[in-house]
Amino acid sequence: MNQTSYIGRFAPSPSGPLHMGSLVTALGSFLQAKVNNGKWLLRIDDIDPPRIMAGAIESIQVTLKAHGLIWDDDVILQSQNSQYYEHILSQLSRQNLLYPCECTRAQIKAIGEFYSGTCRDKKQIQAPYSLRIKNQFNISQINDVRLGQLEVNSNATQEDFIVRRKDGLYAYHLASVADDINLGVTEIVRGEDLITATACQWALFKTLGKALPQCLHLPLVRSADGRKFSKQNHAPALNLNKTEENLIVALDHLNLPVPKHIPQQTQAILDWAIQAWADSTP
Ligand SMILES: [Zn+2]
Repeated sequence: MNQTSYIGRFAPSPSGPLHMGSLVTALGSFLQAKVNNGKWLLRIDDIDPPRIMAGAIESIQVTLKAHGLIWDDDVILQSQNSQYYEHILSQLSRQNLLYPCECTRAQIKAIGEFYSGTCRDKKQIQAPYSLRIKNQFNISQINDVRLGQLEVNSNATQEDFIVRRKDGLYAYHLASVADDINLGVTEIVRGEDLITATACQWALFKTLGKALPQCLHLPLVRSADGRKFSKQNHAPALNLNKTEENLIVALDHLNLPVPKHIPQQTQAILDWAIQAWADSTP
């Protein structure tokens, strides 16, 4: 096995400062890359300008560095990659796998929970439209490095999902898969809330004739009332004066309780964590 071939990434969206949930994902993907002697890339998913919070791109980098999570190579900004997304879209278009869809969210909801392909055979499109992919794959299982074989809701994953939005912005699945291909990412480490997204993205990898990366889904950090810790739920930003404590809490979420004798210092904690992660993964 070529030990340097592993490429992982952490891909936050700059819609706010990093919180404990994002630290767990960052740390999990960092540890996987280190244990596999691989590269750990930082990709900022800034394809949705209205959702970008001023200063967040810088604050993400400052926060990661403060926690000793130093990425390899230059930071990648998705906003710089439109050319490659267009290239992927034109490949799909040449394969006759895209079609315009003018349905509104309300119209889709009125028919059912998932998009049923209403516009696939429409001859004329009048309203503003998004582009959907003719999804030829029905991904009902994915193989997770940590969780093993996972069943996914195939109603959600066989849907003709959007690759370019009505407002002209590139959709998350398209940009994410395009960049994972372009960067040669070999393993995607992300939160368990994205298992369905992974399955949709697997369909896109397959459509494009690309090998599937490996995937590892990390446990979600939940608030006291059981909701996912997220920017939408106003999860507090990480306190940069408490980086050691933050790492210890994040490692707890990853099932790696830091022993008392480990010095309360970021590098010492990370060094211990890399070893402990290596020992705990199959
Ligand atoms: Zn439609």
